Amino acid sequence: MPSMSPIPFDNSYARLPERFYAPRAPTPVAAPRLIRLNRSLAESLGLDPDWLAGPDGVAALAGNQIPAGATPLAAAYAGHQFGQFVPQLGDGRAILLGEVIDRVGQRRDIQLKGSGPTPFSRRGDGRAALGPVLREYLVSEAMAALGIPTTRALAAVATGEPVVRETLLPGAVLTRVASSHIRVGTFQFFAVRGDIEGLRALADHVIARHYPEAVGVEKPYRALLEGVVARQSELVARWLLVGFVHGVMNTDNMSVAGETIDYGPCAFLDVYDPRTVFSSIDQHGRYAYGEQPRIALWNLTRLAETLLPLLAADETEAVAEAEAAAVGYGPRFETAYHAGLNAKLGLTEVRDGDPALAGDLLKRMAENQADFTRTFRALCAASAHPEADAAVRDLFVDPTAYDAWAQSWRPRLAQEARDSAATEAAMRRVNPAFIPRNHRVEAMIAAAVERDDFAPFEELLTVLSRPYDDQPAMVRYAEAPEGGGVGYRTFCGT
Ligand code: AMP
Ligand code: MG
Repeated sequence: MPSMSPIPFDNSYARLPERFYAPRAPTPVAAPRLIRLNRSLAESLGLDPDWLAGPDGVAALAGNQIPAGATPLAAAYAGHQFGQFVPQLGDGRAILLGEVIDRVGQRRDIQLKGSGPTPFSRRGDGRAALGPVLREYLVSEAMAALGIPTTRALAAVATGEPVVRETLLPGAVLTRVASSHIRVGTFQFFAVRGDIEGLRALADHVIARHYPEAVGVEKPYRALLEGVVARQSELVARWLLVGFVHGVMNTDNMSVAGETIDYGPCAFLDVYDPRTVFSSIDQHGRYAYGEQPRIALWNLTRLAETLLPLLAADETEAVAEAEAAAVGYGPRFETAYHAGLNAKLGLTEVRDGDPALAGDLLKRMAENQADFTRTFRALCAASAHPEADAAVRDLFVDPTAYDAWAQSWRPRLAQEARDSAATEAAMRRVNPAFIPRNHRVEAMIAAAVERDDFAPFEELLTVLSRPYDDQPAMVRYAEAPEGGGVGYRTFCGT
């Protein structure tokens, strides 16, 4: 009797026309060793975690065995990298095994990253180093726990093979789960080739998969664009509200499903400064923290351009449709961002003057090198107990800068209908105590890479799975680095 496949694949992307991808199997590795399996994610996908952690599962997660029902492929895409258009990028070191329908009926991609070369590898080796794999695993899971749309990490496997970077580093494979891996750059791939039929097939696939509200409406492609604009505007607002810097917002790294994707040189703010850039390759600050809303719109404008042939037969009319969809970006971003800032300050509805109140705090924080996460977390207690102001003001170089602001905040708080305990509790649900602190992430990577010690990785993951809970035994993970983390640098995840 044929046994059922341990992974019940249903691969819709592989059913798209051949020019969408290159069929390609992962390249086996020398000595796979499971570093971590995300058991709860496996269960939510309807997969058996015990099978995944066993010899056949680990072989599948390493790319050494192709599980029954998989149709491994590398997806084709293009993209603007730091503003420069590259007509062919594609999965250079990732292979999509296939898709499963999860426990809530959502289609999810299962993709290996670091699984060997593909026809899109260009000069790359198709591999990933252990450090960036652990960073992506940890940060993507932290983002999920913060409630921010993101790809997820299902597993990390050590390959037992070195990868050649500036030095020799241990290699690893990450198994990533996403609503899809379709990017703005996927649309650009077909648009630049003048392949309107490919573009239409892609758009229809994305609508069916991610934007069911656009099915059967009079202008489905306009509705698709509006949908992506809406999700991206809200996503970038969520990033800003937790101090996240993606670091490499190229159009090939922006998901059309509205999830955070392609964690490379990403990092979180310590001290608040909107000009913060962590990535060593971002020399002009194109992807600085405070530039992210503008860049997301730039990327969406590139997406809109690709859709012109589908929006209307007449070009002027198509441009008008695209513009009408894109103008929604600014107001949607502003609404999400200011509602989020208000919630962080304990205020429910956004009233006149609230954006200015929040802006004034942020300005004072920037001028006084206040730690972003700690300041907002300390405000939770201060909202209900003015004697807790001391803990907030200590975070400012000049503590009186906080005092002056608090004199405007308190009367505004007093207008809230909720009692102060309810306000404080609500603030604790939106102002995390724990984020992946850069110095902690670096120490975790060093322990794993230099000493094969994964205990810090496990401990950080556990702490970050409950970011909004005070975990008194873990306060050291909430502490800011010496010197406020100024000058911290990340290197691209290759
Ligand atoms: P990124 O901006 O880091 O997401 O990657 C840009 C492009 O480079 C994508 O097409 C990747 O697949 C490709 N790439 C990155 N690292 C490697 C590697 N080690 N081997 C092959 N391709 C790579
Ligand atoms: Mg990428």
